[in-house]
Amino acid sequence: MTKDRVVVIGGGPAGMMAAGVAARQGRSVTLIEKNNRLGRKLLITGKGRCNLTNITDLEGLIANIPVNGKFLYHAFHRFGNRDLIAFFQEWGLSTKVERGGRVFPVTDRSAHVVAALERFMSRYRVQITQGEGKEILVTGAQVAGVKLDNGEQIPAERVIIATGGCSYPATGSTGDGYRFAAALGHTITPLKPALVPLESPTAWLREVQGLTLKNVAIKVFNQEGKVVYSDFGEMLFTHFGVSGPVILSASVHLEQDHHYRLVIDLKPALTPEQLDLRLQRDFTKHIRKAFRNALGDLLPRALIPVVVNLATIPPDKPVHQITKAERQRLAALLKGLEVEITSLRPITEAIVTAGGVSVKEINPATMESKLVKGLFFAGEVMDVNAYTGGFNLQIAFSTGYLAGSSC
Ligand SMILES: Cc1cc2nc3c(=O)[nH]c(=O)nc-3n(C[C@H](O)[C@H](O)[C@H](O)COP(=O)(O)OP(=O)(O)OC[C@H]3O[C@@H](n4cnc5c(N)ncnc54)[C@H](O)[C@@H]3O)c2cc1C
Repeated sequence: MTKDRVVVIGGGPAGMMAAGVAARQGRSVTLIEKNNRLGRKLLITGKGRCNLTNITDLEGLIANIPVNGKFLYHAFHRFGNRDLIAFFQEWGLSTKVERGGRVFPVTDRSAHVVAALERFMSRYRVQITQGEGKEILVTGAQVAGVKLDNGEQIPAERVIIATGGCSYPATGSTGDGYRFAAALGHTITPLKPALVPLESPTAWLREVQGLTLKNVAIKVFNQEGKVVYSDFGEMLFTHFGVSGPVILSASVHLEQDHHYRLVIDLKPALTPEQLDLRLQRDFTKHIRKAFRNALGDLLPRALIPVVVNLATIPPDKPVHQITKAERQRLAALLKGLEVEITSLRPITEAIVTAGGVSVKEINPATMESKLVKGLFFAGEVMDVNAYTGGFNLQIAFSTGYLAGSSC
């Protein structure tokens, strides 16, 4: 009886997809979720709108996965972003494409993504059990079932671990899968926050908290002066430091508690010479004004006092008295505003967890453990993580699909 029985632990995107796919091919599937509703993290994705994938091509998907992207070729090949969009269409959810190829439900509601997955599972009669998986039972090197926190044992020859990472633990992702896998001999590569804001002691940041900068270029230097990340896009100043898309992406390349120098180019579209000409034009236009009142065309209002102060040009100096050397100092500052970075925010605040079950011990063609027969993995519990843009959910859906169809 246990032969066709599959137990999936974790009712997030990876687990729901895996459960539905396994059931569709005739397995008797039980999905165990500890929360009283499915997909709690999924509900808060994309600020409640759920950026469920990205329409880039296969190479683009892999390029946006800085850690172990190649491990996912099979999964994306088997069930890629176009398949995912078609899948949701089939289950009653139309999607739309936004800036950067990001795909969202047309309704802008992540709850509708969860509802589509629930329809899929219900159609193929996945049995959903509220409870907490405590232990994976094995006989020799073969899965035998799952023990729940209430002591109940569910016998099964196949178990899929889809318990997610350990960020945003209030959503239920508390790292249980790492413990299950480690107890069965799997290597867990060190866990660290990824896609997480950065902390800074730089004093002037407090004056501009809440300010968003669009179209800036950033470079992050390590203590040896080497560039460890560069990017272009949007960032945000906060009460503790910096955040926003380019900062979250940079965080993937930084180590916790190492010090870095973030350099912001506020005018990346202009060469230093073009910027100098632009400053000359602005200063001619505002020739009768004081320096501090002459930057309104160039900078967001909140940033002006900061730049005026850092430029070390007297704020009340009449614009026509500003020297060439002062103007060049200002130009250099606009192309290289420096922020000190002292650490990443904690893992509990990270969009995803980096590290996890080592992919060297998982068969990429099936998602089955190479150590324990009948044990499968899906989603963020594995040592894979991607940039923002819908790639992390595509990983969850593709690996869930592959694990479910390999059961
Ligand atoms: C604020 C935020 C916004 C995000 N926005 C996006 C976005 O727009 N696009 C994108 O691609 N990615 C986004 N992500 C990342 C994405 O949500 C995750 O990568 C994805 O949810 C991982 O899916 P998963 O199924 O592997 O794990 P999870 O979604 O974490 O699901 C795991 C499930 O397992 C359950 N569980 C855990 N342990 C047990 C146990 N012992 N027994 C029973 N159940 C258990 C949990 O309760 C949970 O429901 C966002 C993340 C956050 C935090």
